[in-house]
Amino acid sequence: MEEATQMSPSTQTPVVSCADVTRQYTRGSSSRFSRRSHPTVTALDEVSVDIYPGEFVGIAGPSGSGKSTLLHLLAGLDTPTGGDVTLAGTETTGLSEQRRARLRLAHVGIVFQHFYLLPSISARSNVALPLVEEGIGTATRREKAVELLEEVGLADRTEHKPGQLSGGEQQRVAIARALVTDPSVLIADEPTGELDTATGEQIIRMLNRHTDGRAVIVASHDEQVLEQTDRVIRLRDGQVENDG
Ligand code: ADP
Repeated sequence: MEEATQMSPSTQTPVVSCADVTRQYTRGSSSRFSRRSHPTVTALDEVSVDIYPGEFVGIAGPSGSGKSTLLHLLAGLDTPTGGDVTLAGTETTGLSEQRRARLRLAHVGIVFQHFYLLPSISARSNVALPLVEEGIGTATRREKAVELLEEVGLADRTEHKPGQLSGGEQQRVAIARALVTDPSVLIADEPTGELDTATGEQIIRMLNRHTDGRAVIVASHDEQVLEQTDRVIRLRDGQVENDG
């Protein structure tokens, strides 16, 4: 983190960036009869952002300003209707769904507001899931999942199912799952939205501890969360208000 502020960004390559990115949605476009009667929404309007390894970056803005849309594009979960998104040196826009998924698996960890853990399996198995997709063997998966759970302070909860854990513990499991593939970008969409203030602070401190060599990007409404980041990109009506 300090390295990022001491080094001139021009001497580094962004780990993820978007250049003049626009994302439009057509409301109700799932029906071929309703397309014409429903307006196009411009969720992002020519947004350019460069994010470097080691940075802890906040994304702020009122509801509907485009935060989730931007995170989804940076994560490679979605593609823009205009402009380019580059993730770990690869432009994602022209990639097939399958290649984009592979790029995402290799480089991105994602944490959601509602945790999205599988309720029927243990914390350890939840954390190990991305490694199954990577084709890693059972013993290594187990070892890595336990190691990550220890790192987020849940050494004594590895065999608990999500329903047996508190909200803060579940979010820590989700963070361990996002980190288990050692991603170069960790993206969190309102990660403290379901948590009380003290637990939310712990989660943000935990995310902040994992910026070594990777970028951590957090979208939040909460100014206390944003205060802890290195810089904040503020969105309004789909445009960047400041220069980050
Ligand atoms: P935020 O995360 O800041 O609340 P979003 O990125 O979710 O903002 O949304 C930005 C704008 O795009 C809003 O006007 C929202 O209604 C619209 N939007 C988001 N997703 C869709 C979608 N799938 N279909 C239509 N409109 C959408």
